[in-house]
Amino acid sequence: MDSQAKINSVAEAQKKLISAAGTEKIDLLNFLALQFLESNPPQALKYSQSSKELSEELMDAKRLAESYFLLGKSNYFSLDLLSSIENLTNAAKLFEGLGDLENECRALNGIGTCQFMLGDNARALDTLFKGLDVAHRAGEKREESEAMMQIGMIYFRDRENALGFEYLNKCYQIRSTSGTQKDLAAIIGNTGNAYIFTQDYQRAFENYSRCKKIFTEIKNEIGIARAYLNLGIAYGGLEKFPEAIESVNTGLEMFIKLNKQEPICTCYSTLGSIYTEMKDYESAIKYFDKTIELGEQYNFKNILETGYIAQSECYEFIGNYTKALEYLKKFNHSAIQRFQESSEMKIQYLSVAHKVDTFKKETENLSVQNFELNELNKQLTLLNKEKSEFLGIASHDLKNPLASISLSATTLKKHYKNFEPEKIESYLDKIAATSDRMTNIIVNLLNINTIESGEYHISKSQVNLSKLISYITEDFEQAAKQKNIKINFLNAEEIIITTDEQAIHRILENLISNAIKYSNPDGIVNIELSKSDKVIIKITDSGLGIKDEEKERVFQKFPRLTNKPTAGENSTGLGLSIVKRLTELIGGNISFRSEYGKGTTFILELPL
Ligand code: ATP
Ligand code: MG
Repeated sequence: MDSQAKINSVAEAQKKLISAAGTEKIDLLNFLALQFLESNPPQALKYSQSSKELSEELMDAKRLAESYFLLGKSNYFSLDLLSSIENLTNAAKLFEGLGDLENECRALNGIGTCQFMLGDNARALDTLFKGLDVAHRAGEKREESEAMMQIGMIYFRDRENALGFEYLNKCYQIRSTSGTQKDLAAIIGNTGNAYIFTQDYQRAFENYSRCKKIFTEIKNEIGIARAYLNLGIAYGGLEKFPEAIESVNTGLEMFIKLNKQEPICTCYSTLGSIYTEMKDYESAIKYFDKTIELGEQYNFKNILETGYIAQSECYEFIGNYTKALEYLKKFNHSAIQRFQESSEMKIQYLSVAHKVDTFKKETENLSVQNFELNELNKQLTLLNKEKSEFLGIASHDLKNPLASISLSATTLKKHYKNFEPEKIESYLDKIAATSDRMTNIIVNLLNINTIESGEYHISKSQVNLSKLISYITEDFEQAAKQKNIKINFLNAEEIIITTDEQAIHRILENLISNAIKYSNPDGIVNIELSKSDKVIIKITDSGLGIKDEEKERVFQKFPRLTNKPTAGENSTGLGLSIVKRLTELIGGNISFRSEYGKGTTFILELPL
């Protein structure tokens, strides 16, 4: 947005605000707060305060989070760092709850910056690393690089220069490929500051020059002015004094035009230092006077103290000890006062930090609890689903046969005297078959229950697989014959393993029964037994095959797939889920290949 468009949109928003209500009003207030953030922080503070109150009233969490964020940012630009931390912490917490990672990392980085400015490097690092992580997860490159830059600067302050450069460099890598030119210039400028810190003035100079170039390209006047000031400092370090003075003066003129008092004051004090280095104490004193005058007028404490002590030294050099003493006293006074203020501030800060920590712990506890509840809920939902499936099958597959048994029995009781013996027999057969089916379902359900509740005890013995398969195959001979299905058992050698015989028996029985049940008449079932580093049993049928979209449900309980037994055989829908669990219990593996309409091969692998 260019500046005229910005003015227009601000005016429009202010007009709308008069009659706005509800969420529209909050959005307008937040928009306005954002527009005034840097140019007029007190105004931004008012807008965001009203927006916060309204969001609270409407219990609108998303907007409340935004209001807290803007409130915290307004505090930051008003240099009320303590309130900023408090409000940004509220914002971060709300954003976290809303799963809004992008804004959460913005808030976290804001908190980290305040903590850094308050000199709490340890907490600042902690917060910024969290910000870094959240930004990374959110794919927010700008905030990720911002956290890296701040982390780098903190490491420098802690004299961990290598780590400092590492993080500045990481930030630079991101910003040189993505992001705005202004952000790129900021990291290059900060890298320059880092080099000043390590007294590598040549590299500092190179960075500031690049910085100046970028700011010139994007016509950022404050940036250009600061680059000139910084270049002056670097020149000073390189002992190129005339260039240093010229560069700082260029910066100074620009800052005067821009009416930026603090950097003006810094320019004066830098010029004073350069002249001191040149041993031109007269000129130095002149500039330190200006520094002190402006510093006292605007209460720029840090610059003032440097000014006092530097001025005192200058007077000492020229032998004016009275003046030297006067400025040293001023320095002393200011330092003591600052110490007092900062320790009061520290007390306040610690109480805020304490609150923040308590919040953090509460949130952590809550999220652990939440996670556990979620897990429990998932398990319950699953159990519930299984329970209803069980009830479904029970009502369908247990109630129906029961009704049919009861009907047959009642009919028999009523009419057996009039019925032919064959008819009586057919009723009795029906009753027997139906009760068999019910028994199957109940037995299967009991089986699965035993396995699932961990009550199935494995009892190992030597099992001759070749014999076992032949034996089971014989059992199914009758069923196969009825559908004219041929069962071939291919077995090259006799294989004996130590395993749970009952489990193996149940597994194979299920697989062979399925192969017959889901084959059309005249089919073939091949069973192969072989051994390599493990035992492999393959059961292949030329039957219905399983649809691709149903494959992943095959081993579930009651999968209710399209395939139904081709000759009205029993089907409880539990066989393969029992197979799967038993196979796992004995350390084996079960898988299958299938082509719909062509046939299926189940592959059972067992450890030797
Ligand atoms: P149960 O084995 O408990 O009597 P079931 O045979 O229906 O009942 P599972 O053995 O668990 O149950 O098989 C689940 C489903 O997988 C079957 O209903 C059937 O649709 C499909 N299925 C299993 N084996 C085969 C196979 N060899 N060919 C085609 N479909 C099969
Ligand atoms: Mg089965």
